[in-house]
Amino acid sequence: MQSTIHTLIIGSGLTGLSTAHYLKKAGIPFHVVEKESRPGGVIQTVTENGFTYELGPNTGVIGSSEIVELFEDLQGLCELETANENAQKRYILKNGKWEQLPSGVMAGIKTPLFTWKDKFRLLGEPFRSKGKDPHETLSALVKRRMGQSFLDYAIDPFIIGVYAGDPEILVPKYALPKLYNLEQNYGSFIGGAVKKQFEKKTEAEKKITRKVFSARGGLSNLVNALYENAGKENFSFRAVNLQVVPEEGGYKVSWQTHGEKREINARKVVFTGGSFALPDVFPFIEREKLEKITRLRYAKIVEVTLGFKAWKGIELNGFGGLIPSREKRDILGVLYMSTLFENRAPKGGALLTIFMGGIRNENLANQPDDKIKEVVEREITDLMQLPEFQPDLFKITRYDYAIPQYEVNSGERFETIAELEKEYPGLILGGNMRDGIGMADRAKQGKMLAEQVKNPGL
Ligand SMILES: Cc1cc2nc3c(=O)[nH]c(=O)nc-3n(C[C@H](O)[C@H](O)[C@H](O)COP(=O)(O)OP(=O)(O)OC[C@H]3O[C@@H](n4cnc5c(N)ncnc54)[C@H](O)[C@@H]3O)c2cc1C
Repeated sequence: MQSTIHTLIIGSGLTGLSTAHYLKKAGIPFHVVEKESRPGGVIQTVTENGFTYELGPNTGVIGSSEIVELFEDLQGLCELETANENAQKRYILKNGKWEQLPSGVMAGIKTPLFTWKDKFRLLGEPFRSKGKDPHETLSALVKRRMGQSFLDYAIDPFIIGVYAGDPEILVPKYALPKLYNLEQNYGSFIGGAVKKQFEKKTEAEKKITRKVFSARGGLSNLVNALYENAGKENFSFRAVNLQVVPEEGGYKVSWQTHGEKREINARKVVFTGGSFALPDVFPFIEREKLEKITRLRYAKIVEVTLGFKAWKGIELNGFGGLIPSREKRDILGVLYMSTLFENRAPKGGALLTIFMGGIRNENLANQPDDKIKEVVEREITDLMQLPEFQPDLFKITRYDYAIPQYEVNSGERFETIAELEKEYPGLILGGNMRDGIGMADRAKQGKMLAEQVKNPGL
């Protein structure tokens, strides 16, 4: 088989599918090549034994207008589901006890999560001078502006929940650019957040509600709708040994499916896989340059799904609980999925997702299944006050490359990507190695990549 196509997209995760979606809207012919046998990448929903659960991401935050736009464009094929109001209640473990993360001033004063000294110190936050080191770590930034107890019992668990990461290593300029810009542009987190509320928003910005979302019936419904809407005929699955080489006026992309060789010539190639896949896919790119990208570290995660047909533990009235590193427990956190979204567990039952591993506890993620089961049983029985541990569903899913860590070398990575795209016109390097790690970021990048494809100068 040999043919030509305007744009070839490598990978059919949310990034590749969103790119395909926007190319379709622009009328640009494309083909998507995927090594697995289904679209969606790490997004996968399973319905089994009365439970509907996720194997990859469980929830997203509406942090870009593009993620809303996708659901709007796919009306009739899938539906956005925002989480139950309870999602606003989040719990943090302190001294072995769940404490609600405060959201208002009074709750903030009363909370045992932070020290009195830091609570008083916070009053001075708007007046503290802004940082000058663009590579300051998140932990240094938070200690400087807010104090150690805010780092330990707010930012550390937040970073565990989002990055499975470590604030000592992540650099806000790259990992949390919105937070970094609050300080840089407004001189303060608190002052900046207040001022931003009064700024006039565009129609697109109004869609960014920061609510917790899924797709009704599970996130697979979103990726399957994108796949169907983009045209199933525009996809090839089970593509192994995929390689790209430059050719006159574009690229030759070759791969094998069931031992059969396939080739397509494309004017433009959009890569949306992880950075670790780059050397095999682009053998013509100088190793030294690629290393500046492949240096990116990923957190290893073990995700454990627990389903109970009759729940006998503590009341699950919230988003879930996160566990600060200082607490030295063997799990990172637990999400109350059946509270957040409809029809995830039988009535009276519960669906929980537990995360283990992460950048600080990689050893745990390497443990065999029976050890993982032992840890989950011990931790969940205690933390959820279960009289007995007899789940009706127990599922372990492992990710060696779950979440990329935007550390100090990220600037160099972004620059190298830009250089390579200049050096090889028509080559576009996307995916979660740049532009953010969440699902909303991926949808936003999909639109950006499609814009890059449309740009005749590239
Ligand atoms: C365990 C876990 C929990 C998460 N939790 C959240 C969360 O709570 N909220 C949130 O917003 N985000 C979360 N995320 C992140 C979010 O899921 C990702 O940002 C997003 O789904 C990534 O989409 P992607 O398309 O960039 O990458 P992927 O989903 O990894 O897709 C990349 C695709 O490219 C394919 N591919 C790679 N190399 C090749 C090759 N050589 N040839 C052909 N195909 C190739 C892969 O098979 C894959 O299908 C989580 C991720 C994980 C793993």
